[in-house]
Amino acid sequence: MRKFKTESKKLLDLMINSIYTNKEIFLRELISNASDAVDKLYFRSLTDDKVQINRADLAITVSYDKDARTVTISDNGIGMDKDELDKNLGTIAHSDSFEFKASQAKGAADDADEGLADETAQDIADVDIIGQFGVGFYSAFMVGSKVRVVSRSYGSDEAWAWESNGVDGYDIKEAERDTHGTDVTIYLKDNDGDEYYDTYASESGLKNLIKRYSNYVRYPIKMEVEKRREVPAPDDAGDDHQPEFETYTELDTINSMIPIWKRKKSEVTQEEYNEFYKTDFHDFEDPARTISLHAEGTLTYDALMFVPGHAPYDMWSKDYKKGLALYSSGVLIMDKCEELVPDYFNFMRGVVDSADLTLNISRETLQHNSQLRAIGRRLEKKIKSELESMLADDREAYEKFYKEFGRTLKYGVYSSYGMAKSTLENLLLFYSAKQKKMITLEEYVQDAPAEAEAIYFAAGDSIDRLAQMPIVTTVLAKGYDVLLCDENVDEFCMMALQSYASDKIVTFDDEGNQEEPKQFAIKNVGGEDLGLTTEEEKKEAEEATEANAALFDAMRDALGGKVEKVVVSTRLTDAPVVLTTEGAVSLQMAQIFKQQPGGGEETPDVHIVMEVNPKHPVFETLKKANDDGDAEKVSKYTGILYDQALLVEGLPIDNPLEFSQAIASLMK
Ligand code: ADP
Repeated sequence: MRKFKTESKKLLDLMINSIYTNKEIFLRELISNASDAVDKLYFRSLTDDKVQINRADLAITVSYDKDARTVTISDNGIGMDKDELDKNLGTIAHSDSFEFKASQAKGAADDADEGLADETAQDIADVDIIGQFGVGFYSAFMVGSKVRVVSRSYGSDEAWAWESNGVDGYDIKEAERDTHGTDVTIYLKDNDGDEYYDTYASESGLKNLIKRYSNYVRYPIKMEVEKRREVPAPDDAGDDHQPEFETYTELDTINSMIPIWKRKKSEVTQEEYNEFYKTDFHDFEDPARTISLHAEGTLTYDALMFVPGHAPYDMWSKDYKKGLALYSSGVLIMDKCEELVPDYFNFMRGVVDSADLTLNISRETLQHNSQLRAIGRRLEKKIKSELESMLADDREAYEKFYKEFGRTLKYGVYSSYGMAKSTLENLLLFYSAKQKKMITLEEYVQDAPAEAEAIYFAAGDSIDRLAQMPIVTTVLAKGYDVLLCDENVDEFCMMALQSYASDKIVTFDDEGNQEEPKQFAIKNVGGEDLGLTTEEEKKEAEEATEANAALFDAMRDALGGKVEKVVVSTRLTDAPVVLTTEGAVSLQMAQIFKQQPGGGEETPDVHIVMEVNPKHPVFETLKKANDDGDAEKVSKYTGILYDQALLVEGLPIDNPLEFSQAIASLMK
């Protein structure tokens, strides 16, 4: 018995026991090795006249024996001689740089021991080293208690068998094989509570795995499959003859071989893309948009992405995982590689395939992979421009898309603290109170009066109600549009945006130089300074506030700290009072915080101002009551006005009973 090298043994233990939790990938690994071996032989045939092969014969075969509980992966590739079996399968990492990488990994592990990092540092170190060297073959030991490899090197007439139980060592003995190539036979482990290994010795189990992980391997993967056919009826069969069936087996090619994403967009019909999308991503509806990309250069890859037609049912659950499927030369590495799409495009489905990627298996290593990040950046640009052209060319489709995924885009602006603003701002739509339809920020500023300095919005729980709010109608009356926002995330998104400048509106200064685009501040109509009042109007209001200081103090006191101050308003038309806020937190926002799980304990302070309409008859009533020294009346009326204003905004009032009693007592 030959012993595994010590470091190999350690890695072997590690991998079998902890690294790969997903045992079924062993088949993908062995098929990849087989495909590589076939590749090597094929490439040699291109440069060496002595190597005569027919490319059409090159294939991989998967077979199984239910009773013996074995599965065998065979190829007619380059094969291995005795030395190669020893070197390639006897040592996990046979590369020169192994020692170096191993010591690096050990360094990270030591850091972990010293408590500088948590357990994950250890994991990353272990996984990294395994990823670096692709110990794919050894994954066979995750499902097998014994593995036997019979191989015959191309051009040799000897075959050798390598056999091991994966624990202490292996044997190499003389064997028989008709032609060049390799058979890897796995003797499956006993079934246990966690894993039903028999699956791997069944037609359907293997077929599924081949389709799932190796569908796009370039060589045919063949397997004997059971089929049924009708036995031809005998010539003398009567009318009441019952058809009979028999089963037979046939060698089928299981994989589809040519990846659809490798093909040029012009060669594939939309129908084919749709079918691929629906089968691969389990959707019943065609995608809204298909994006195909072939990048060449420092990093060569193909990408095929889809904008789904509707959000999956679990899109808003915390278990939802974003990501694209990642392939390396047609072999699936992972289902959902998160690094390839930013959170705000988390609805994208698709595939990225690159031969340049080091085949790292673990998530941890992928996270730090700069190649993936580079691909991700490019894809992000592509998705952005695709959505922009959808918005430009097919408004109806875009609005449908936006209904499904607009929230994600808006959340992206907010959760990135505005960092994703430049990517997303031109993809946003909001409901225009003036135009009564969804518009972009660009469209808002294009339509705004020349003197406009701001984009106005109002936030609340229903578009209809917002449209009627006095603070909205006043701004509209002045000739400015108001964007009506009825989703929780809207106001946060607006805050993160802060301002908007259209690069489509080009202006020049007196000397004919192009000016910087005008920045429109984004303002809540319920906020402090809308910039819609003249200095004169402001001064007038301040003086009026001053003159009524006694009444306003009494009103503020009557509300017992609910409002910061009471002032004369400059913005009202026909409502008696309106509640506005100073500072960043609006009434709606405070309400959203309150509704958060945890009861809004961390709700930032909201500073409410009660603005009184001096032209409203109610103001005269209040003034008179105050002059008459009727403090009770002032207090009662103020309370009603405050609650009314909240109701108009669609916000709950503290004490509905008290409110209705106060109204009833007035009506008597
Ligand atoms: P990797 O494939 O990442 O190098 P593996 O442990 O899977 O690592 O395989 C080690 C080596 O064994 C391969 O590099 C290859 O030289 C050889 N090998 C594995 N499987 C086969 C096969 N089916 N035919 C020929 N050589 C193989």
